Amino acid sequence: MEIFYGKCGIGRIKLKLEPIGKCSRCRKNSAIIEIRYAKQKLCQGCFNDFFISRIKRVVEEFKMFNKDERIAVAVSGGKDSVALLHALKMAFKDQNIFAFYINLGIKYYSDHLEKKVIKLCEDLKIPLEIYNLKEKEGYTIDDFLITKYKDKMCSVCGTIKRNIFTLLSVKVNANALATGHNLDDTVSTMMSLFLNGDLEGIRKLKPVLKPLLNGYPRKIKPLITTPEIEDLYYVSLNELPVQECSCPHGEITTIKQIKNWIDELEKTQPDIKFRLLSIFRKKIIPIYEKNLNEELEDIKACSICSMPSNSEICSKCKRVLELKEYKQKLEDLKIEIDYKELQEMLKENNVIVIDVRSPDEMNEFKIENSINIPSEEIEKHFKNLLKFKKTHKIVLYCNSGRKSYALTIRLRNMGFKAYNLKDGVLELYLPSY
Ligand code: SF4
Ligand code: ZN
Repeated sequence: MEIFYGKCGIGRIKLKLEPIGKCSRCRKNSAIIEIRYAKQKLCQGCFNDFFISRIKRVVEEFKMFNKDERIAVAVSGGKDSVALLHALKMAFKDQNIFAFYINLGIKYYSDHLEKKVIKLCEDLKIPLEIYNLKEKEGYTIDDFLITKYKDKMCSVCGTIKRNIFTLLSVKVNANALATGHNLDDTVSTMMSLFLNGDLEGIRKLKPVLKPLLNGYPRKIKPLITTPEIEDLYYVSLNELPVQECSCPHGEITTIKQIKNWIDELEKTQPDIKFRLLSIFRKKIIPIYEKNLNEELEDIKACSICSMPSNSEICSKCKRVLELKEYKQKLEDLKIEIDYKELQEMLKENNVIVIDVRSPDEMNEFKIENSINIPSEEIEKHFKNLLKFKKTHKIVLYCNSGRKSYALTIRLRNMGFKAYNLKDGVLELYLPSY
């Protein structure tokens, strides 16, 4: 069996699963997967049992949830969260489980994943809530390409996703929110944070994170002891619907470089990832937590979205506000618009369209919702127009675009939000013209 998987930012994984002798557990079937750190070779059935029972053990050992609780699962459509949702359902058949998917509006990516997640949840009969960022909040992750975060898209995306997944969990009264962080993600992130001296960041990677404020779910990581490659085996062997293309914003980050470095070490020390996890969990985090109580008292609700935050406005809301400023700046700089953009603007109800053609330039063509003030006369109307300076956008039109452009600049200099309607409008407006 051949496995192909597009990993965001670091190309594709290509694997071949072939018979490698008898299964060490059932001693009946052909083994196809070698688990080096456990010194086992497993067939498909025994691998599934091994995978699912480890998740069960981790949930029980860390008291992630009990049988009466409502569990929300953050599903992205990637191998980890897909494996998580499926295995949780297999391990806890009667548990009240919900799935959430955020459509981030990433072109050629988010819609593709949405279909996969819908199919997975239908197959598993798990209720799914889809949160469409564009529809609900008016922006997409792609929009951040115009901001100072253009080189840190994953960081801004992660902040937004964490906020929304938590918010959705609160809405359904979930007791716990499960995410697909696997062993490789956890130890490489811990190492990276350690190198930056960010001990608070490391603490957040614990298997269970208590809510910072009452009424919020605890965050749990049932895959924290599952190596990344085993998630890929699990989704492939069980033919689960999973992402087939990688996100266009995937970057080669320090964490990914550390991941590759630990993978190299693993070749000679098969249990290195488990050892690192244990050192961070049992030795480093406890030392830091001893001095933590004071800091926890600083947590408050964000004044915009009410999410727990250590400042007045949470990091997600800060970024969204910044994005709005950027969009506004772009809008402010833009002087010429086309007919399609005019149609969008007209939906807003605060647009005055002025056709500045003189009577002898007028033809049968008329701009929708426009008033006609020939350019020579417009000065007389400035006084009236001033009333709308703060509240309205002014769009100007003439046949060649030249006179209206000059007037647009003039109105801009007077502080108006003025736009010139580019030529080419006639062909768009009247296809037979
Ligand atoms: Fe993942 Fe980064 Fe793409 Fe967000 S932007 S979906 S974090 S790869
Ligand atoms: Zn907020």
